[in-house]
Amino acid sequence: MKNNLLNIEKNIEEVLKRSGRTGDKVHIIAVTKTVGVDKINEAIELGLTNIGENRTQELVEKYDIIGNKAKYHMIGHLQTNKVKTIIDKVALVHSLDRLSLAKELDKRAKKHGIIVDTLVQVNVAEEESKFGLKLDEVIPFLEKILKYDSIRVKGLMTIAPFVEDAEEVRWVFKELRRFSEVIKNKDYTNVKMEILSMGMTNDYQVAIEEGSNMIRIGTGIFGQRKYR
Ligand SMILES: *Cc1c(COP(=O)(O)O)cnc(C)c1O
Repeated sequence: MKNNLLNIEKNIEEVLKRSGRTGDKVHIIAVTKTVGVDKINEAIELGLTNIGENRTQELVEKYDIIGNKAKYHMIGHLQTNKVKTIIDKVALVHSLDRLSLAKELDKRAKKHGIIVDTLVQVNVAEEESKFGLKLDEVIPFLEKILKYDSIRVKGLMTIAPFVEDAEEVRWVFKELRRFSEVIKNKDYTNVKMEILSMGMTNDYQVAIEEGSNMIRIGTGIFGQRKYR
């Protein structure tokens, strides 16, 4: 695991250098779905303190054991009726994709007297199998959720189509980056475009070349996932 991480860090540094982004920081979210607590603790020891889960139940189980040694990122589809189980445990929800979810996040955040940080998930490639708003739905969506003042939008997230050659999905990252600039220029209150969560094991180098500053890596750190 240590070698995997060193390798990823070296790649990030090289990509930043060749894209003229030296000095920029790329945050690594260690995607720990299906990974056991012992392994996660090992990762935390190596400095990977941001962990990503795609199921609320798994997130809560791990939170209960690991506690505040790590920050928890909800990166998967979030069911509205599960919001209450994670609202006080998550640092960032990457998968805000519909009004009913915004409403529920706002309601539950208010109950706890907190502000919940979110990213709007965008299905740039408009894949049937994936969640997320289409690009042209994002601005109308943002305008509708402005009234929910316990939600803060910190940026955008996308999952690119899975392809052999990451070059094929470069356009996806480019589009999301371009679109984040469009939104930035709108100057909405409570909407910041500080985070672009894009890039996974297979495509993070291309994503960083196109401006990603948050990558979500599972396999590249922990090896192939074993689903039970
Ligand atoms: C599983 C998952 C990842 C990590 O995928 P790897 O290919 O193992 O790096 C990233 N983002 C999301 C939303 C995921 O569900």
